[in-house]
Amino acid sequence: MASVTSPVQIVFFPFVGGGHQIPMIDTAIAFASHGGANSIITTTLSNSLQFNKSILRYQQSGLPITIHTLPTNIEISDTDMSAGPFTDTSVLRQPLLQVLQDLHPDAIVVDMFHRWAADVIDDLQIPRIIFHGSGCFPPCVFHNVTHYAPHEKLGSDSDPFLVPGLPDPIELTRSQLPPFIRDPSQGFDRRKNAEENSFGTVTNSFYNLEPAYADYLRNVIKTKVWLVGPVSLCNKKTEDKTERGKIPTIDEQSCLNWLNSKEPNSVLYISFGSLARLPREQLKEIAYALESGDQAFIWVIGKIFKSSETEEGDESKWLPDGFEQRMKEKNKGLIIRGWAPQLLILEHESVGGFMTHCGWNSTLEGLSSGVPMVTWPLSAEQFANEKLVSRVLKVGVEVGSREWVSWQDERREIVRREKVAKAVEKVMGKSEEAEEMRKRVRYIADKARRAVEEGGTSYADIDALIHELTVRRQTCLKAN
Ligand code: UDP
Repeated sequence: MASVTSPVQIVFFPFVGGGHQIPMIDTAIAFASHGGANSIITTTLSNSLQFNKSILRYQQSGLPITIHTLPTNIEISDTDMSAGPFTDTSVLRQPLLQVLQDLHPDAIVVDMFHRWAADVIDDLQIPRIIFHGSGCFPPCVFHNVTHYAPHEKLGSDSDPFLVPGLPDPIELTRSQLPPFIRDPSQGFDRRKNAEENSFGTVTNSFYNLEPAYADYLRNVIKTKVWLVGPVSLCNKKTEDKTERGKIPTIDEQSCLNWLNSKEPNSVLYISFGSLARLPREQLKEIAYALESGDQAFIWVIGKIFKSSETEEGDESKWLPDGFEQRMKEKNKGLIIRGWAPQLLILEHESVGGFMTHCGWNSTLEGLSSGVPMVTWPLSAEQFANEKLVSRVLKVGVEVGSREWVSWQDERREIVRREKVAKAVEKVMGKSEEAEEMRKRVRYIADKARRAVEEGGTSYADIDALIHELTVRRQTCLKAN
């Protein structure tokens, strides 16, 4: 039974897989590390296997964090342990209800993709805190595009338009907008509806990264938001940085040995996140661009788009003939198939650039590691993230991606090797522009570290939320 003084109990209910689950687990760790809160992660048994080892390590070091598996045999993830954003998880309704009735937590942090969960939680009058997985900038962009609809006045999908009312001049094209923004009848209001009766939103960002947009979100859009990130910085030990979400498909030491053999800032790290699938022609263009340039690289080849089930699955055949062998012989490139220890790589001093799909976690991890970026958005809110990186923070170079395509559909647009090579040269080269970018992003990385330390803004926001929940509990106990 909770008393007036015992720590608040916060349940974390992550979505299954990659880009949403990883930061939610880190958020649970950040709250447990802070003091005054016990974190309880609830998920299905098989999904918990992806992170139970690291949670056990945190428990052994004394952190009040536990996993409470949902009482069900139902599993959500596909064989790859990662569910797409539109996966319906409502079969977990009853198990979640049971967990909440058993635990009576002070609050639950719930991923926005569990679209059905609001009713269950609100019926029990448990404070519902939403986790969207993005920063402050995209909701501001999408809010104003929806509100002013500048994209509806254009002749073509490729005409640029200025997003009205934002603190910076941000240009987009209609082809870069997600369908639910292009056509509001497809449901942008979902975000608003979910937020309406919620206790607030926890966001993996920090105030000094995007102060104008944090203020805009709070004061103009009227979202109650706690900025608690970058949550990836709670991973201090090598094994915690290595095993986030999945076990890497490369042994950590050989990856580090390879990086140790390189000069500082000489390696380009390339990854398109946990879901994106590039067509084979695009992989070839990237390979040709890399071969024509000088800098070393680590390239994570995750998923590849196959237009049919029968299509060849061996991606080595989709790279130019002999490419991988040549890169190996020259010790120029390391190709990782599957899952990379991304944090470990980004934080290594040899890494001097990050070619990224601008998923929010990757973006924030790149910024927190002080690494300038080649931005290559594909889907979700990634085109907005690109603008934050390239136009607002000025720490990235756009490769020239124009086409928003859902992660499971085939891309038509192919970015040619010349454009790829040019963007890479701009980020990795020795020009004054590259040096300036590097300085700016290092400054941001420094601010990121300060934000999560005692006295920092994210530390203070965690504190504020815990305090609010404590006061709420005291009021409830008095009332009863
Ligand atoms: N990630 C990783 N290894 C990989 C690919 C991804 O550790 O090989 C992690 C990455 O560090 C990040 C998350 O998976 O924390 C991907 O999230 P993001 O928002 O960047 O993209 P998404 O996968 O959601 O598109």
